[in-house]
Amino acid sequence: MTERTIFHRILDGEIPAEKVYEDDEVLVFKDIHPKAPTHLLFIPKKEFVPSIADLTEETLHVPAMLIYKAKQLADRHGIDGYQLRFHVGHSGGQEVFYLHLHFLSQQSLEEEES
Ligand code: AMP
Repeated sequence: MTERTIFHRILDGEIPAEKVYEDDEVLVFKDIHPKAPTHLLFIPKKEFVPSIADLTEETLHVPAMLIYKAKQLADRHGIDGYQLRFHVGHSGGQEVFYLHLHFLSQQSLEEEES
C-alpha cells in the first residue's frame, strides 16, 4: 500500500545523501538540485506521512517538529534569514511523496557539529 520513496531509501542507507545533521527524530541532507546556496531537506525518521495533504490529528506534530529542527539548525549555524517550504501535491510542485521541509538560505552553511 505504502509506496517506498527515494527518501525511504536514503533513510535506510540504500542511496547516498549528503547528510548534514541527524538525531532520533530527523534526518537533514542537502538537496541534490539546490535552489539556493544552502538548500536542505528535513525528513522525519519515526513517522511516514506522504504529504501535508495527508496530515491527521495524529500526525500534525510532524511538520511542527521539522520546523523546530530547522530553527535549531539555523541557530546553530548563525543563519538568521531563510525560507521554509512544503510543496503539497503534484500541482503544488511535490515530487517526492515523503513529507519533507525545504530549508533555503542565501547564507552558507558553516561546519556542522557532529
Ligand atoms: P518536492 O518537490 O518538495 O517533492 O522536492 C523534492 C526534492 O528532493 C527536490 O528539490 C529534489 O531536488 C530533491 N531530491 C530528489 N532526489 C534527491 C536525492 N537523491 N538526494 C537529495 N535530494 C533529492
